[in-house]
Amino acid sequence: MSDSIRFACTGCGKCCTGHHVPLTLAEAGQWARAGGQVIVLVEGFMADGLGMPPEQRDHVLRRSHPVPCGTGELRVSVTFAAFNPGRCRNLDADDLCTIYESRPLVCRIYPAEINPHLPLRPEGKDCPAEAWEQGPELIHGGLLQDAELRGLIEASRQADREDIANKVAICQALGITTSALKGNGFTAWLPDMGAFASALEAVSVDNPAQWQVHVVDGELAGSLQGHGLQTTAQTPVYYAFIGF
Ligand code: SF4
Ligand code: SF4
Repeated sequence: MSDSIRFACTGCGKCCTGHHVPLTLAEAGQWARAGGQVIVLVEGFMADGLGMPPEQRDHVLRRSHPVPCGTGELRVSVTFAAFNPGRCRNLDADDLCTIYESRPLVCRIYPAEINPHLPLRPEGKDCPAEAWEQGPELIHGGLLQDAELRGLIEASRQADREDIANKVAICQALGITTSALKGNGFTAWLPDMGAFASALEAVSVDNPAQWQVHVVDGELAGSLQGHGLQTTAQTPVYYAFIGF
């Protein structure tokens, strides 16, 4: 990451098009009540092995939850995101956000990174070149300069930690119990939003379920099975497997 990065949003609206926006649990509820579709993305790993990026250990452990899988234990991370395959439903014809004052945390944080292990790389963002040639320093000496932005990022990380047990319970209530292996892909689900709203209202963490891991690679599946995990390579009907 460069020691100094200037930034000023040009209002081009590109980050509001073709991006599934991660939502906190409370935001997912608001999104559903407003008539939006939520996509559920699931990945999992073993606490001391497969799928665990060692350098991110504390970060990924905090935002994951243990579930039974075969005779072993999988830790799953669940993302509820606004399903935006095209223009966000809140983007108007002038590329302005119609819920600007109450837009999700992630919309307020972009283009900064939430994961502390990911450096901000302008070339990986949707913002046009001129956005990086003006405005105050977003980064100086490798550090985010805006205290309010740092607070929003911390709030997002905190929600990730606080929401994960309930997000897993909601998944189980919806029959979402197949994960992918972190680093190998993720499973993507588009739940019926009526069922999603009901699951949000009646979250029960006393609803344990057996999970499995979708793995296509036979050798990797063998390694997971060697650790007691249940795997599947069947063509999915109710979800998509997005492999890397
Ligand atoms: S909610 Fe608003 S800021 Fe967020 S993606 Fe949609 S239009 Fe953009
Ligand atoms: S892509 Fe960047 S410059 Fe364009 S609206 Fe989003 S944050 Fe602003």
